[in-house]
Amino acid sequence: MNILVVNAGSSSLKYQLLDMDTGELLAKGLCERGGYENAVQKHRVAKHDKVIARQMRDHRDAIGYVLNTLINDPDAPISDLSEIHAVGHRIVSGGEFFSRSCLVDDDVIEKIAICSELAPLHNPGALQVIDACRLFMPHTPQVTVFDTAYFQSIPPKAFLYGLPLRYYEKYKIRKYGAHGTSHRYVAARAAQMLGKPLEELKLITCHLGNGSSVTAVDKGVAVDTSMGMTPLDGLIMGTRCGSVDPAVITYIMRKESLTPDEMENIMNRESGLYGISGLSNDLREIRREAEMGNERANLAYEMFGYAVKKYIGQYFATMAGCDAIILTAGIGENCTRMPRMIFDGLEPMGIIYDPEKNCQRGMERVVSSDESRIKILVIPTNEEWMIAQDTKEIVEAL
Ligand code: AMP
Repeated sequence: MNILVVNAGSSSLKYQLLDMDTGELLAKGLCERGGYENAVQKHRVAKHDKVIARQMRDHRDAIGYVLNTLINDPDAPISDLSEIHAVGHRIVSGGEFFSRSCLVDDDVIEKIAICSELAPLHNPGALQVIDACRLFMPHTPQVTVFDTAYFQSIPPKAFLYGLPLRYYEKYKIRKYGAHGTSHRYVAARAAQMLGKPLEELKLITCHLGNGSSVTAVDKGVAVDTSMGMTPLDGLIMGTRCGSVDPAVITYIMRKESLTPDEMENIMNRESGLYGISGLSNDLREIRREAEMGNERANLAYEMFGYAVKKYIGQYFATMAGCDAIILTAGIGENCTRMPRMIFDGLEPMGIIYDPEKNCQRGMERVVSSDESRIKILVIPTNEEWMIAQDTKEIVEAL
């Protein structure tokens, strides 16, 4: 079964065509800078990379090019759209409507549109792609996989804010979480690595990338997560501030006469590692500068590690223990130094990081010492695979 996985981002559209019978990646690519003159499609098939300039106004144009490339390119992996047996879409917000992946129909589309308020940069683009796929492949089933679905198991005591309850009742203001597909994937892989059923494990999954979040997974379900109603909450991130005293926001707005949009822009794009270091949102650059004695870079580096450590402590307490901590995404998978900062001093909790075990990149590995009561695992995330897997299961059950 060939499955096309589409991930419509705020300004880019990523895709993969997977043969789920063999596990082979038939093609993958990325359309970026849609709406700009320098828009391009980067396409990889059979290890050949090509970059094609495209006139793309939006995601609808982009998916048109993608489908065309998949069948008409000289190295095209398929010759007809009927060879795409299903399409799986990543949807950033499913609000409270969706607690699992589902087959696309008119009702699903309507609910995703309602959730656009919660993901204004993502959901509308994904709907354009769904619409175009329905047009080009009217008989091909489509499945939506929601970033938020994994967190619908979080209980009210953890998903509500200490605001008047009427705001939840009126506007559904609550924690929804993000990166759910990644947390779900690594939790399932961790159970396999540990050789135990997921339902018997307490896990803390740390998705540490440009956007970062930590999730508590108890007996196979998410019971808390660091991101909130939006992906701004929780850890300090590349350019996002993470949790701050809410009164600070109104204080700055009054002091600098800022509009809500201006303040949101500062919190999303000018804060985090970038805002603290004054240099970059890229942890590699921050680490390089910190090693050369740049104090602000060092501070940003320390703040990131400290924030992750705090969430591990919180979830350790709320779950009354933990069997394993999982690191994933750009920083979690590749940075061998950051875990030193995160796990430094946690030996009394039974958490002992062993940097010597963390030298081979790109593979699943145990990076805690043999004496560590709590295992630390590095698991490369694979959201596309998870989306394809959900799509396959739903389509096969039809
Ligand atoms: P992601 O959003 O998952 O692509 O992750 C991006 C983040 O991972 C950026 O902050 C990168 O600096 C960081 N990253 C990637 N490779 C490394 C590395 N070898 N060491 C430290 N950070 C890395």
